[in-house]
Amino acid sequence: MIVKEDCLFCKIVAGTISSKKVYEDDQMLAFHDITPAAPVHVLLIPKKHIDSMNEVTQEDLPVIAHIHGVAIQLAKELGINESGYRLINNCGPDSGQAVQHLHYHLLGGANLGALTG
Ligand code: ADP
Repeated sequence: MIVKEDCLFCKIVAGTISSKKVYEDDQMLAFHDITPAAPVHVLLIPKKHIDSMNEVTQEDLPVIAHIHGVAIQLAKELGINESGYRLINNCGPDSGQAVQHLHYHLLGGANLGALTG
């Protein structure tokens, strides 16, 4: 497993920084965002360290697909599947990506407003 020593989310994967986990398996982890931007705000990450979506390779695509599948499952478990939700990835400076470990935000539980027109 590729791990980056000074990476916040690698430390969460290793358990040296605590998190409120909602899902874990050998490939990925999902946990509540520490500063929720909506009533439900969960982060889904691969355990493998990948800096951002720009560094995703062909061999990473199965774990990305798996993360999407778990996001669908968690939306149901967290009761936001019918009211609706958003799955977001921020990639690079213009997106505001603050943590350089690939992650997806699962947001819901309130009207999230329009992202585009
Ligand atoms: P942004 O901060 O603009 O959303 P990112 O897309 O990189 O940038 O998201 C990083 C997310 O990680 C933020 O929503 C932030 O609240 C969350 N976060 C930072 N530290 C922790 C932590 N220790 N536990 C859980 N979530 C965290």
